[in-house]
Amino acid sequence: MAEKNLHVLLSSISPWLHDETYVFCTVSDKQFRALKTEPICFFRESEGVSIIVEQSAADAAVLAYDGTWSLITCEVDSDLNAVGFIAAMSKIVAEAGISINPVSAYHHDHLFVPSDRAQDALALLQEAPMCPLPTRQPITDIRDLIPLVFSEQKAVKAPGSLLTQGIALIRSKFGYTLPDDMKLFYERCADVKVFDRYSIISLQRAMDIDRSMLPQSWLPFCEMPNGKMIAIDLSEPNDHYPIIDLDNNGFDYIVIALSFTEFIDKILSHSGDSIYWIDHSEQAGTVNVHLSNKQLRQKHKEYWDSLGDTTKGERCLNGSCDTHRISLSVFCKKHQFEQIAKIECPFTTDKPRKTFAEYTFD
Ligand SMILES: [Zn+2]
Repeated sequence: MAEKNLHVLLSSISPWLHDETYVFCTVSDKQFRALKTEPICFFRESEGVSIIVEQSAADAAVLAYDGTWSLITCEVDSDLNAVGFIAAMSKIVAEAGISINPVSAYHHDHLFVPSDRAQDALALLQEAPMCPLPTRQPITDIRDLIPLVFSEQKAVKAPGSLLTQGIALIRSKFGYTLPDDMKLFYERCADVKVFDRYSIISLQRAMDIDRSMLPQSWLPFCEMPNGKMIAIDLSEPNDHYPIIDLDNNGFDYIVIALSFTEFIDKILSHSGDSIYWIDHSEQAGTVNVHLSNKQLRQKHKEYWDSLGDTTKGERCLNGSCDTHRISLSVFCKKHQFEQIAKIECPFTTDKPRKTFAEYTFD
């Protein structure tokens, strides 16, 4: 039976690398019918037929292509409705700066990766012990979790005065108080780095973080290696203190736990080798933040700037776009932006058009 459970899928993907080298081409309907080779995959768009064929076949048919791709097939019999499977695998490979072009067929998921990075991608997928199941039952009292933090990691005991100061500052500056479990945690631990990945920062540092683009009640308290933060919403919406992943890239935020205790429990009970919320089944929902137009423009600009430069490599896979892709995406900068921001890109990398003719009236 096709497997739907993400934990099972991720722990049993058995990826294998095909020997063939593939290329992506676009052909007209007429060219498509005249092809002497069977593409491994084709997709009809209004601009033409996109085909994925072996490089030797494309060369024989004198078809144009940019870049060559290798194929990694994930052997597990995945259900077409398995949520987050492709996203989880893509993230692992993308974090190493490898672009990925997934194709979900009836029985398996297939990943096309640039040929020169195929071995790296395969190794990542084989080695990453992705999202293992929690090794124990959930612990719901922070007092039982704190000793585990000390046993796993070097925790530094918080100087009491600084903690009192921090809590008072948060109350006076934000008008919010910390939930009890978080206070208890900070009484015992400060500046803790769990699994060398989750840095729970001091309250003093937490308050220095730029929160201009965040709702007033959100306090970033945990820093990830990529510099992205995790925040807690102190306004207690729906009687919870939701923990929010601020690494959203786009404009919806993901709630990864419903309390500080749950967050600490999850990062301790999952192996230190995985980011537990990569698995969508661990997420408690999303939050929408409605920014002012000015903030939105700033956020769009920041996202645009974060996308980096165009590579010399393959072409953007968006329709007939002939710009080269950026290194972290199969799209060019403009199309990647539009994909995420869901608005027409207000920025442009186009050079000014060459002046064709100028006339002046005397
Ligand atoms: Zn493009």
